[in-house]
Amino acid sequence: MIEEDGRIVLVDAGWPRSWARVGQSIGALGRSPSDVEAVILTHGHPDHLGAAERTRTAIGAPVRAHRDEVARVRGESKDASPLKLVPGLVPQLRRGAAMRFVLHATANGFLTPTWVKQVEAFDTGDELDVPGRPRVIATPGHTEGHVSFHLPSAGVVIAGDEIVIRDPITGAPGPRFPHDAVNSQPARSRESLARLEGLDADTLLTGHGDPWRGSMADAVARARQADA
Ligand SMILES: [Zn+2]
Repeated sequence: MIEEDGRIVLVDAGWPRSWARVGQSIGALGRSPSDVEAVILTHGHPDHLGAAERTRTAIGAPVRAHRDEVARVRGESKDASPLKLVPGLVPQLRRGAAMRFVLHATANGFLTPTWVKQVEAFDTGDELDVPGRPRVIATPGHTEGHVSFHLPSAGVVIAGDEIVIRDPITGAPGPRFPHDAVNSQPARSRESLARLEGLDADTLLTGHGDPWRGSMADAVARARQADA
């Protein structure tokens, strides 16, 4: 969540069954659901779009995603189904981390995502008129319309699953790429790293793992090194 002047924007919305936790988190900030202005999505995997549709219908907050990701978020892209990830994940289940992640995912609705019926599109380079004024950095590859958000005034980059701080499949610490079992276009996601490299920020927030402190140049260098 990004909070500014009492207004809130959700960046991704947890798991499909995260609605109660979203409400708890809003309450923990001393705010109410009506303070949520929008949900902005890094991408349309079920563990990121999560409770977005519930937020839209219960609060009336618009859900926004990159133009190239809208079909996936609506569940209309041929690649949207979480079942598409199953063949890649099954061979990984010998790993304890992967098994724990898949069990947690299944219990939290990963296989039965709630697609978002109405999605507003944004574009690469846009500065979104929501708290924090995040700028849209296209980082495609993990999914076709995956984006990161840069908040220059806060010195923060929110990188979704372009980089993770803990790989849910292997349990390995980052900054690193998520395992290719979950990347639609692995080579393209690696190229996208260059888009983060020069951003001015000292805090990196990702879809998996704790916040990470350091420069984006250092984070990208570590991700490339871990990959090699
Ligand atoms: Zn993802």
